[in-house]
Amino acid sequence: MHPWNRNARPAARRETAALGQYQAMFEEMEKTAGFSEARLKERMLEIDLRDGKRDGRLAPSTGNKCPDCGHIITKVCSNCSCCGAKLTGVT
Ligand SMILES: [Zn+2]
Repeated sequence: MHPWNRNARPAARRETAALGQYQAMFEEMEKTAGFSEARLKERMLEIDLRDGKRDGRLAPSTGNKCPDCGHIITKVCSNCSCCGAKLTGVT
């Protein structure tokens, strides 16, 4: 378990906490590595576009697509973590 997940938070507050963490990380990087927000956004867009769609999602580098619901599942799973369907080609 990650240290920042020590305290269970209501779902609505979890995102706020994650954003605070992101902000802290970014400000630290800005200070230590000469990062700029413009460069960060540029990089985020480039990563987003790796799967051919600008949808705010990272292209999965590995994994299988669930034949039932299209959810991306990592190779270690034999069943879809989203709908539970058995994945073909996985033992
Ligand atoms: Zn599924």
